[in-house]
Amino acid sequence: MILIRNVRLVDAMGERGPLDVLIGEGRILSLEGGEAKQVVDGTGCFLAPGFLDLHAHLREPGEEVKEDLFSGLLAAVRGGYTDLVSMPNTKPPVDTPEAVRALKEKAKALGLARLHPAAALTEKQEGKTLTPAGLLQEAGAVLLTDDGRTNEDAGVLAAGLLMAAPLGLPVAVHAEDAGLRRNGVMNDGPLADLLGLPGNPTEAEAARIARDLEVLRYALRRSPATPRLHVQHLSTKRGLELVREAKRAGLPVTAEATPHHLTLTEEALRTFDPLFKVAPPLRGEEDREALLEGLLDGTLDAIATDHAPHTLAEKEMDLLRAPFGIPSLEVAFPLLYTELHLKRGFPLRRLVELFTDGPRRVLGLPPLHLEEGTEASLVLLDPKERPVDPQGFASKARFSPWTGWRLGGWPVLTLVEGRIVHEALE
Ligand SMILES: [Zn+2]
Repeated sequence: MILIRNVRLVDAMGERGPLDVLIGEGRILSLEGGEAKQVVDGTGCFLAPGFLDLHAHLREPGEEVKEDLFSGLLAAVRGGYTDLVSMPNTKPPVDTPEAVRALKEKAKALGLARLHPAAALTEKQEGKTLTPAGLLQEAGAVLLTDDGRTNEDAGVLAAGLLMAAPLGLPVAVHAEDAGLRRNGVMNDGPLADLLGLPGNPTEAEAARIARDLEVLRYALRRSPATPRLHVQHLSTKRGLELVREAKRAGLPVTAEATPHHLTLTEEALRTFDPLFKVAPPLRGEEDREALLEGLLDGTLDAIATDHAPHTLAEKEMDLLRAPFGIPSLEVAFPLLYTELHLKRGFPLRRLVELFTDGPRRVLGLPPLHLEEGTEASLVLLDPKERPVDPQGFASKARFSPWTGWRLGGWPVLTLVEGRIVHEALE
């Protein structure tokens, strides 16, 4: 039994407290205190349901030098995540039930965050032959995606949506038109021209989202079950507008945005530092503002990290050759708590929803609210400020675009079904 005393509660329903939360048998037993062996003083902190990340690259199998299940899932619980969806673009890609099962079993034995693998939509993520969705789901896959690749063949995406619809599996897309994106390493525009760097235009994303929404419309018309399309790492104002219109028209589409697109812009590329190289690229301030609007009005359903670890040696190559990706599992919540809630007054209730019930809805999971009887997968967050120090990361990627930023809202206690999986109480 664990008692968290005098703590404020925040979930998608709102804020309450302070209350005394008694935890035992893997559940919240009482919000009115009680006897417990372990007592945690929650004064000044707030308690939220455990976070769910819809989009993390854990690199296992094949690139364990960048990250593995242990380092990645430890980084997750340190970031307050109790559940995480791993992307299938590993080496080889996760495109068989055996591969999904192996990941799930290994992750379970680690006893950290719960792993929910995404499986490839097509064999080897080549965009040609669909994978066996039903068998992948039986093995534990919760999402189908060729993330990292861009689903060039609209017919294959349509067939994938039709195949996944009766299973209730969402199909997630990395929405960039490969032809328009070309070899861009940053946002296309005056700044890219000034810096002499190849640009990746906002239209590459918008054009692909527009196409994918038409594909979804087709699948919806042809399927007795509801096909579900999820747009990954949405980064542009125009892309957001398209999703907003589609939602208003009743299309079954959901979307996520990342911590980096919400807090950084293309201006960061003036340093020529590959730390800021990511796909889709960091955009202009107008795009960033549009995303914040989208978080508020429900166009965006979730904040997902797109945690993409690489070795430091790779990220220290020149900007043209360095790989795309930013690691963020351990800083995502404090970053947005500080930059959105503290500095801009973004409602804390909605922010927590974007880390919990929002992503849960994308996967078709029930909401998780802090009530008696609720499963005790929880995170305790401490508003006290401290600077980002990548040297202390559990992730193998010990670098960050936010190094030195002073943030509050750090996870100091993470519980999965009542079991402590991360503790950094003072
Ligand atoms: Zn992607």
